[in-house]
Amino acid sequence: MRGAVIHSPGDVRFEELDETKILKPTDAIIRTVATCVCGSDLWPYRGLEPVTEPRPMGHEYVGIVEEVGSEVTSAEPGQFVVGSFATSDNTCANCRKGWQSSCLHREFMSTCQADYIRVPNAHGTLVATDSHPDAALVPSLLAVSDVMRTGWYAALAAEVKPGSTAVVVGDGAVGLCGVIAAKELGRGGPPGRRLGEDHRHEPS
Ligand SMILES: [Zn+2]
Repeated sequence: MRGAVIHSPGDVRFEELDETKILKPTDAIIRTVATCVCGSDLWPYRGLEPVTEPRPMGHEYVGIVEEVGSEVTSAEPGQFVVGSFATSDNTCANCRKGWQSSCLHREFMSTCQADYIRVPNAHGTLVATDSHPDAALVPSLLAVSDVMRTGWYAALAAEVKPGSTAVVVGDGAVGLCGVIAAKELGRGGPPGRRLGEDHRHEPS
């Protein structure tokens, strides 16, 4: 398969990589439909973060499930799914308290600018859409895998409520998503800490 690999600042190559495989029963393999460059990918690209050896890039992704490990019951091959840059099992003490980004079994995604990716903690991380979305909707769903959920978290952490005045410092992608989230919470929008919770397929 092919994937992006950073070798040094300013030197990103699209290379042949080893096929990705299920390593744990809680993994899933997805075929990427869309992936993108995050602002934090630019830190090593610009030399603001050291690159000590060549490494794959990317942590924002949506795709089609190809294969799931034996313990994954929330997603099945053929489904369109949105993931997260920080994976979570949704069952540990931190997850049960609603702090999935601090899951005790968290693994960060870092290989997503590739044809196929392994998603650890797939059961708690992947959210399947009801059907395969139109191509026009894919970029918006892709934003939910990092920037939107980060802006959403900021608005929740700030305890924005109807009638609140919210100040967003910085209007990059995350800041703009913070504005959207604050507006949504200002309308009494959905409570809770999980985007897409209503679409989660719970184990039977
Ligand atoms: Zn957890």
